[in-house]
Amino acid sequence: MSGNLRGIPLYKPGKPAQGADGRPAYKLSSNENPYPPLPGVVEAAVAAAGSLNRYPDLGCTGLVAELAARLGVPESHIATGTGSVGVAQSLIHSTAGPGDEVVYAWRSFEAYPIIVQVNGATSVQVPLTADGGHDLDAMLAAVTDRTRLIFVCNPNNPTGTVVHRAELERFLDAVPADVLVVLDEAYNEFVRDPEVPDGIELYRDRPNVCVLRTFSKAYGLAGLRVGFAVGHEPVAEALRQTAVPFGVSQLAQDAAVASLRAEKALLERVDALVAERARVVAALVAQGWTPNETQANFVWLPLGERTSDFAAACAAAGVVVRPFPGDGVRVTIGETEGNDLFLEAAERFRKES
Ligand SMILES: *Cc1c(COP(=O)(O)O)cnc(C)c1O
Repeated sequence: MSGNLRGIPLYKPGKPAQGADGRPAYKLSSNENPYPPLPGVVEAAVAAAGSLNRYPDLGCTGLVAELAARLGVPESHIATGTGSVGVAQSLIHSTAGPGDEVVYAWRSFEAYPIIVQVNGATSVQVPLTADGGHDLDAMLAAVTDRTRLIFVCNPNNPTGTVVHRAELERFLDAVPADVLVVLDEAYNEFVRDPEVPDGIELYRDRPNVCVLRTFSKAYGLAGLRVGFAVGHEPVAEALRQTAVPFGVSQLAQDAAVASLRAEKALLERVDALVAERARVVAALVAQGWTPNETQANFVWLPLGERTSDFAAACAAAGVVVRPFPGDGVRVTIGETEGNDLFLEAAERFRKES
């Protein structure tokens, strides 16, 4: 086995929902959307399935055209991939190798250390602030002449915290022009804080900024693996060159286009999840918890050493949450009944400990 591959951390998927004694269980461990695909999406996917003997459209031309028109960016600035993790992996592949450094906050998205190490580059992890946010000054101070790429996860997975426009612009202005800054906006649709910038606006006059978006979360297509980057031509071009050919299936492409066209239903569902998020946070506060402000489709409880016990208590109550042992628990906002079971378990845990 090559040196690069030794000791790569394993990506831990959220545990499947498994109800004890016939009770339903709720999977609140992977930030999935509790709603089924948007109207028209299953039909589009079924129609595409009739041509499974054919390779998909290599350039994802229909999807790229639809995205370009909606986002108001040139088609040549868009690169698609197998989920935004697939695109992120291509980004590292085309920018960083052995001896190069990739800077990101920690704790953040667990795929970052994996894809950095797979490419033989070095992770530079900058601790989050006490309230779970990005420490942009410390991240800037961590940039060296070996830094090739910086991830800013906004909102941050798993803490749900956000970076505001003014501080992000100051950061981008200070980062050397030859370092690529990747704004990972997987949860963009759930943001309601007006101070959070839309990365698409920030990238326009900054050649070293690239935005990652996905159909896995708000759009509810996690199972189809499709995401994309928006960046200037050298970046988008490099992504197209390094992507696995035909990685995005025709099912995924057509389902993504149909999802974009179901915007009204999308917005209603996202609004409902945001309202449910506010209800869950308020209930936690009423129970005496102090969850940090979240702008994503999950909440974060920094439980430290009690993390695994809390996750076990939730599992016993029929909800699967995502523990990061020794650190905290991330709980996806799911269907109301699942959220209620989680809140009951949280209240019991508080009273008993
Ligand atoms: C879920 C998630 C993604 C998206 O993953 P896909 O590969 O598109 O399913 C990307 N970034 C972050 C921070 C995430 O939480």
